Amino acid sequence: MNTYKLLTPGPLTTTDTVKREMLVDRCTWDDDYKAITQEIRCRLLELAGVSDKEYTSVLMQGSGTFGVESVFSSIIGGQDKVLICSNGAYGERMTQICGRCRIPYIHYQQVYDKTPDASEVARILAEDPGITHVAMVHSETTSGILNDIQAVGKAVKAAGRTFIVDAMSSFGGMEIPVAEWGIDFLVSSANKCIQGVPGFSFIICRRDKLLASEGNARSLSLDLLDQWKCMEKDGKWRFTSPTHVVLAFAQALKELAAEGGIPARRRRYEENNCLLIREMEKMGFTAYIDSAHQGHIITTFFYPSETSFCFEDFYRYIKERGYAIYPGKLTDMDTFRIGNIGEIYPEDIQKLIHIISEFLVERKGEGK
Ligand SMILES: *Cc1c(COP(=O)(O)O)cnc(C)c1O
Repeated sequence: MNTYKLLTPGPLTTTDTVKREMLVDRCTWDDDYKAITQEIRCRLLELAGVSDKEYTSVLMQGSGTFGVESVFSSIIGGQDKVLICSNGAYGERMTQICGRCRIPYIHYQQVYDKTPDASEVARILAEDPGITHVAMVHSETTSGILNDIQAVGKAVKAAGRTFIVDAMSSFGGMEIPVAEWGIDFLVSSANKCIQGVPGFSFIICRRDKLLASEGNARSLSLDLLDQWKCMEKDGKWRFTSPTHVVLAFAQALKELAAEGGIPARRRRYEENNCLLIREMEKMGFTAYIDSAHQGHIITTFFYPSETSFCFEDFYRYIKERGYAIYPGKLTDMDTFRIGNIGEIYPEDIQKLIHIISEFLVERKGEGK
């Protein structure tokens, strides 16, 4: 099999030991299996730095978007209105969810290379008492920008509203003091910084706000409170659970602890990212996001200007040598992205840099 490592924001490269867990078939109502689900739920609260009294966690089948849609469609009531702060495709996806679920929303749309401004959020909330919820993305994977959810959370709490955060590509890859930052619902998924495989999302919920959502759900399969009620009893998933994915995730959590927890993982990702940007800049590439707001998860680079750069050639050349990078997600500029999360180390980044430098030399030799 021709294998390569993924320099993408998830699914990402996982360890062989995580993959090996999936060789076992499990029965969904078996006590041992249900105990694994409960262990995962506990561990997630620990990683979020919250107490079991104030917060609880729910696992939800599907990819990350299913988790976001589950929160929106289950928590925001018929008389409520949500302020969506966006600066990328994932923030904008929240507005699509609202459209489908017929949830009233206000869109505070920031340009992709700037972060939503907390004082602007405070101003909008002061002007519109009808807004009950505020939602935003932490690490906007569209560009790699890291948003200031701490400052926005403060404004949301000061105004007494509920705060929903999509921390899909940041949770597990950096410390997020969930309670301190005023987050009521945080969504992430199995195949990002915890380094599991795709198959479910998880939601860290403030207990009282979850319980207060009774009767709001617009979907049966994505009903967050119903899912929680079933899972809270003894770890049973409401409908067929992704058993192999759950086992892999439990192993991934053990490996996160063995690495030294979130601080150690953050440091590794930061090291990967700093090395990547430094070496890419030496070769003449420019990052799209300025260094003050660049997160350490994924980086968007402009196409090099001087040559007739062909992304497909570039992608194929790198993939044949062991790494898969990612196309850009900006609509108005030619860019590509390189992720540095997953089972990726500075040695991988060094290898990638070497491959890219050889690509550039070869293209020059061909007079292109
Ligand atoms: C990955 C990701 C999602 C979820 O995408 P899915 O394709 O549904 O897994 C949502 N938000 C952000 C910021 C992401 O990085």
